[in-house]
Amino acid sequence: GAERTKNVLILMSDTGGGHRASAEAIRNAFQIEFGDEYRIFVKDVWKEYTGWPLNDLERSYKFMVKHVQLWKVAFHSTYPRWIHSFYLAAIAAYYAKEVEAGLMEYKPDIIISVHPLMQHIPLWVLKWQGLQKKVIFATVITDLNSCHPTWFHPGVNRCYCPSQEVAKRALIDGLEESQVRVFGLPIRPSFARAVLSKDQLREELEMDPDLPAVLLMGGGEGMGPVKKTALVLGESLVDKELDKPIGQLIIICGRNKTLASSLETEQWKIPVKVRGFETQMEKWMGACDCIITKAGPGTIAEALIRGLPIILNDYIPGQEKGNVPYVVDNGAGVFTRSPKETARIVTEWFSTKKDELKRMSDNSLKLAQPEAVFNIVKDIHELACQRGPLANIPYMLTSSFTSII
Ligand code: UDP
Repeated sequence: GAERTKNVLILMSDTGGGHRASAEAIRNAFQIEFGDEYRIFVKDVWKEYTGWPLNDLERSYKFMVKHVQLWKVAFHSTYPRWIHSFYLAAIAAYYAKEVEAGLMEYKPDIIISVHPLMQHIPLWVLKWQGLQKKVIFATVITDLNSCHPTWFHPGVNRCYCPSQEVAKRALIDGLEESQVRVFGLPIRPSFARAVLSKDQLREELEMDPDLPAVLLMGGGEGMGPVKKTALVLGESLVDKELDKPIGQLIIICGRNKTLASSLETEQWKIPVKVRGFETQMEKWMGACDCIITKAGPGTIAEALIRGLPIILNDYIPGQEKGNVPYVVDNGAGVFTRSPKETARIVTEWFSTKKDELKRMSDNSLKLAQPEAVFNIVKDIHELACQRGPLANIPYMLTSSFTSII
């Protein structure tokens, strides 16, 4: 009947940390808001059901972003719609059966894509299956500003845009206003609902209770000029006359093990913590006073919620470029590629320019949208309710037919 648990299939890919973080945010928010009403599956359908190049997205992505020029070419050469449509159509034709099997296995009532390459093929599959009118399809865009047009597909029920800028692009690209909603980037509920004080967090994380703290990171993969920046900061966050530290440094290397082990062996003049992939980022951000990071949308949105001024020191060409003016023009941070300049800014923030740090922190909080993920799942829930009883979606028609025989 109408009361049965509905299946939600979230399509993501482990390229970087951002897509997985968004997918998990949506899953957690569904559970918090609606409990057992929804059963959530988070799947990398490409990896599990297709061959190269789709199952290899993660590896080729890591390779390409390490070779920035290559990524630039890939991003911009697939920009015109006719090229990516053609490319995706070719891939779709080739892997149609596998992807179809992969999607249908979960009997989804709702499909949510948090990946730029996961609209076209799943929507084609729904069309082939005659399920377009039955299954709700939503895209949740995870780039804050400049985003690749493969995100936009006129066949979706909803396209959730993190900013007005992205919403404008969606409309230009042919989506109707009724399809577009702007709530912000979905961030894990643990960020929105975190209650611990900075003092408590510092104690729990065994940090210095008094020294101002700077968090240094580079997305899920630990990218950007992390090491150089750490070394310069280690020298400059020192009161030269008193020979005492004026700040402490937290370095989160993500999955970059080489980076972590090379930093662990350094000698420091200030308190430093070197960490690998952390699962409780809200705590580390809550314990610090500012952050240095590449322009990853997830990290930026999280830092805004915690009211951290942001120094952006790198961006992935293409999708992350627009995140820079989003932060800088709104007074929530600065951009510089120079580790020296970065260290100078942090040192000033911790000594002579505390007022600037405070002002930027206030601006960050103003931009923050901690409720975005809850608004997204509530809107999807409303869509699902409007559809009325969703039961009896004719999946697996053939198998039930054969079981009757
Ligand atoms: N992240 C994490 N633990 C780490 C490093 C990163 O949970 O040790 C999370 C971070 O909080 C953010 C995501 O990974 O949610 C990184 O996403 P972002 O969009 O900033 O960059 P990406 O890694 O996708 O390039």
